[in-house]
Amino acid sequence: MQPFELITPSTIPDAVKAQSSSQTAQQGAQIRFIAGGTNLVDYMKLNVETPRQLVDINGLPLDKIEPGDKGGLKIGALARNSDVAHHDAVKQQYPVLSQAILAGASTQLRNMASTAGNLLQKTRCVYYRDTAYGCNKRTPGSGCSAIGGHNRMLAILGTSDRCIASNPSDQNVALAALEATIHITGPKGDRAVPIANFYTLPGNTPERETVLEPGDLITHISIPALPAGAKSLYLKLRDRASYEFALASAAIVIKTSGNHIDFVRVALGGVGAVPWRSREAEHALQGKAATPANFRAAAEAALHGARPQSQNGFKIELAKRCLTAALNQATKATA
Ligand code: SF4
Repeated sequence: MQPFELITPSTIPDAVKAQSSSQTAQQGAQIRFIAGGTNLVDYMKLNVETPRQLVDINGLPLDKIEPGDKGGLKIGALARNSDVAHHDAVKQQYPVLSQAILAGASTQLRNMASTAGNLLQKTRCVYYRDTAYGCNKRTPGSGCSAIGGHNRMLAILGTSDRCIASNPSDQNVALAALEATIHITGPKGDRAVPIANFYTLPGNTPERETVLEPGDLITHISIPALPAGAKSLYLKLRDRASYEFALASAAIVIKTSGNHIDFVRVALGGVGAVPWRSREAEHALQGKAATPANFRAAAEAALHGARPQSQNGFKIELAKRCLTAALNQATKATA
């Protein structure tokens, strides 16, 4: 691990100022915010991330989980994943979020990992973690070793010829289905970014993953209230039952009247370069009967544009079955 300096600001403006002199808020930033450290410290040990300064934000008042200003829920950036997953309001109003968080990592990691840190969780592409290999995300222009290499875990939606990494987070898939908004403060003031606009596709610049700029600090996320009677569910398929990343997952929010689908939101995990909101699936379901045949049609629509690599073509059918099963479970459809 490279040597670094630790800074402990006592106010949010001081934290923003301390980080704003970095040249980037993305991969390779010289100055980083650190909260739980469950992701960043791993990459510092591997010399993938080599910041010269860490700004410790754990002393900032950003850990509350409370009712939102306009209804819904407000979750502080420093709220620990375990605290969010076990919070009564989350369990009762947004079970998809509680289920998704508890499906990720281990108890020890969830006790440390923060909500905003999870939002910014880096890919687990093996080449990103190994500086002996070319990786456009880690070192722009060095190539993508995963294309034609080990790519079984990687993405099939939203990829580019420069990068096929998958977003590894479970939390973020649930937040995509819940249409969360990310609240940010920075050198230019405060702004709110819908999660659908927060992540950037790899394109020609896979080293850039979000719209964050130097000095931008995530303060909290807000989740709107769901329609009365809506159900939500997270289903994750993986190689082993715990402490494993998704091969495919589905986050569902759905409301039915009788057998008629009034409201539906769908997001997929394990298959997208970003947490993958599937408007195609939603369009295929909206106003239709809640039947397995319609669920399968929605799954076909969701995976229509999939681009598999040499080892991950199985994810197409797996993701379709995952989404179909999640919709079946969420609605308890029987016909
Ligand atoms: Fe790097 Fe992305 Fe290629 Fe993995 S898939 S080696 S993260 S450029």
